[in-house]
Amino acid sequence: MVFPLDSLQDYQLIFKPEHEMLRKSIREFLEREVAPHALEFDERDEVPRDILRKLGEQGLFGIGIPEEYSGQGGDMVSAVILMEELSRVAPPLAVIRGTNDLFAIPLMLFGTEEQRRKYLPPLARGEAFGAHAMTEPCCGSDVAGIQTRAVKKGERWVINGRKIFISNADIADYIMVFARTAEPPANRRWYGITAFIVEKDTPGLKIGAKFEKRGLRGSHAVEVILDNVEVPDENRVGELNMGFIIAMETYDRTRIGVAAQALGMAQAALEKAFQYSLQRTAFGQYLASFEAIQFALVEMIAELMTARYLTYLAAYLADQGKEEFKYVASLAKFYATEVAERVVSRAIDIHGGVGVIHETGIERFLRDVKITEIYEGANNIQRIVAFRQLLRVLSRKGLVNPEVARAIT
Ligand SMILES: Cc1cc2nc3c(=O)[nH]c(=O)nc-3n(C[C@H](O)[C@H](O)[C@H](O)COP(=O)(O)OP(=O)(O)OC[C@H]3O[C@@H](n4cnc5c(N)ncnc54)[C@H](O)[C@@H]3O)c2cc1C
Repeated sequence: MVFPLDSLQDYQLIFKPEHEMLRKSIREFLEREVAPHALEFDERDEVPRDILRKLGEQGLFGIGIPEEYSGQGGDMVSAVILMEELSRVAPPLAVIRGTNDLFAIPLMLFGTEEQRRKYLPPLARGEAFGAHAMTEPCCGSDVAGIQTRAVKKGERWVINGRKIFISNADIADYIMVFARTAEPPANRRWYGITAFIVEKDTPGLKIGAKFEKRGLRGSHAVEVILDNVEVPDENRVGELNMGFIIAMETYDRTRIGVAAQALGMAQAALEKAFQYSLQRTAFGQYLASFEAIQFALVEMIAELMTARYLTYLAAYLADQGKEEFKYVASLAKFYATEVAERVVSRAIDIHGGVGVIHETGIERFLRDVKITEIYEGANNIQRIVAFRQLLRVLSRKGLVNPEVARAIT
């Protein structure tokens, strides 16, 4: 054993030539069609529909969705490549794509065949967008505490509640809404939450104000109010009262995408800082000739490469069906997002005053990257989840006393 994995082989990453071809083609497309407009997304807090249409035509919303549902297929590694490249050029695009995943993954894992056939193809083609409504004023990290309620009335459910910070709910055609359907027993606080699909224009669904945030501008976090919203039972996703499990299984996968978002931002900042250090002179020398700048750059590279390894390892283990992917995903999420914040901040330092000028295009990443440390499970929560998942895996393998593992998790 090479703790915590079984052997050295479990640390290996095997990429296929298709992965590199995908990365190159996505990068070429984004550099050509999106990069010239990326700063405007931040300035105007808006991504034009035309850009989203082009992404759709390019098939980028279909990566990760099986071909039978009009997607491009592709494994988790491909989805990470996409998220990293989107974020390197325009982070809000990665959020829009990631939010689609937060709608699509619950369907792919727990939905009925009818639900998949109805909702996945428009998403895959970029003709419709998804959102995921869990967070409420009372509860973000404490998912089990949500108060939105769904009550059965004949064959329909009536949902009432208020959700906040819901990404892209203003452009979403379909929202995955989590609501309480039963009171949980004291020893199973997570029990009693159910997932429902709510389509836009459903009477009683109100998309409230957008929160004026300083990062990831172009992707909106908005309030969602459910005022006697009625949906048929066929819109229930997965088992009644098991929505917490559906959400956690989803986040185990989508948090790899958040780590990839952070990588993309750090990558962009690092590339700019490296080039700048070879152009700018001070005291008659290139910045890169100062040891302090060399040290900063190589440390940024070392940290970013390590973060990239963890992120792709999580995706690779998931593609191999290895249960270890869950704790590696949490390690990757907190590590990559924190590394990215340091890398972006140091890239700004290397630019001096120019670094905080909007047109230089780096300071926006510092505003963007902060949010990756908070959403889809704040980083403290990732540390807790990583440790618990690790204990569970080791206990299943007989390497930790199951009673001790249960007492801690
Ligand atoms: C831009 C943006 C977009 C978002 N998009 C969505 C979305 O699409 N859908 C959705 O449902 N939600 C969304 N969220 C909400 C997001 O998931 C929550 O903000 C996040 O989970 C944290 O919850 P909170 O803000 O309530 O913080 P809290 O839960 O109040 O936590 C505050 C702080 O306390 C720490 N903390 C909490 N509990 C513990 C503990 N047990 N141990 C140690 N530390 C702890 C946290 O790490 C955090 O640092 C979004 C948020 C933002 C900012």
